[in-house]
Amino acid sequence: MWSFIDLSAAEPPLGPAPTYPGPLQDSFGRRINYLRISLTDACNLRCVYCMPEEMRFRPRAELLSDGEILAIVQAAAELGVSKIRLTGGEPTIRPGMVELVRAIASTPGIGQVAMTTNGLLLAELAEPLARAGLRGLNISIDTLDAVKFRRITRWGDLRRVWDGIAAAEAAQIRPLKLNAVVTRGFNEEEVVSLARLSIDHPWHIRFIELMPLGSVADFQQEAVVSSAETRRLIEAELGPLHPLAGYDGSDPARPYRLAGAAGQLGFISSVTEPFCAGCNRFRLTADGKLRLCLLRDREVDLLAPLRSGCTGDELREIMRVAVWHKPWGHGLPQGEVPQLRLMSQIGG
Ligand code: SAM
Ligand code: SF4
Repeated sequence: MWSFIDLSAAEPPLGPAPTYPGPLQDSFGRRINYLRISLTDACNLRCVYCMPEEMRFRPRAELLSDGEILAIVQAAAELGVSKIRLTGGEPTIRPGMVELVRAIASTPGIGQVAMTTNGLLLAELAEPLARAGLRGLNISIDTLDAVKFRRITRWGDLRRVWDGIAAAEAAQIRPLKLNAVVTRGFNEEEVVSLARLSIDHPWHIRFIELMPLGSVADFQQEAVVSSAETRRLIEAELGPLHPLAGYDGSDPARPYRLAGAAGQLGFISSVTEPFCAGCNRFRLTADGKLRLCLLRDREVDLLAPLRSGCTGDELREIMRVAVWHKPWGHGLPQGEVPQLRLMSQIGG
């Protein structure tokens, strides 16, 4: 059984941050305008590369309430954050999630609210989410083979994901991106059929390199398939991939297109080709910690200050100092694997 390790006590406090005009920035001069919020660490699946089967989730009282999330979103917006992505665990299982999306989307300064989901509940939720102001969905689908899907997710029903994708299409949520984590021994030969979807659909199909975290890092490191290998597998079957012009580095997915395709392909190569220089984001975990880099354990607590009645000014100052200290990048090339959390406890 996975249990939580509290590393925060071992961290020295952050130093001060200089005052600077305008929106959030870090000490390397990167503008930070994108916050990814995990709504829950719990999930209705147990993907093999994400978490062990006997996973223990945090009790509700240890998670941020809707009001606490909205206070953080408002503070972030006042600091220049304009884009929010909701993730998890599985964000759609949080009670009241549609109303929360509506409130976030109507926060002054927030221009886009998107979500990353396994899609299982989208058949019922896509339309209400679109009406609440959701603009952008990333749906995880690692294979088009129902048997392999069940093996990867431990019990998932692939038909429900397709129903969810159809509902997202009907609700006209754009952009629609399909995410596949490529895991050796589970779905590396599936990348061709997934890539083929981009020929007829205006979707972004994105292939993600497996990242090592916490107690499942050994499995993850052995099962990594590099983006270079994924591209080779696709090109061998479907022809050359053409890089798209205008890529500015802020999207982790490097974009390509197959000749004549309606959609595009993206490759997120966190392990073999890190994209830290263009990073514009930080993360909020469901238990109220700001995580400054996905793959670094240093976190800054917002839950305790919020529950002890901090003011809006104090909240903004904590966030400003935290972001200033955002690390340059992760340490995977040096063999430094984050230990504090699994991917489902951060949100990806
Ligand atoms: N439950 C939702 C879902 O699966 O889309 C949102 C949370 S999930 C943690 C976010 C993304 O992270 C998914 O696309 C998932 O496939 C990916 N992911 C999970 N574990 C990963 C790992 N170890 N390395 C790379 N990506 C991972
Ligand atoms: Fe759940 Fe998403 Fe992790 Fe799969 S990847 S176990 S769907 S949080």
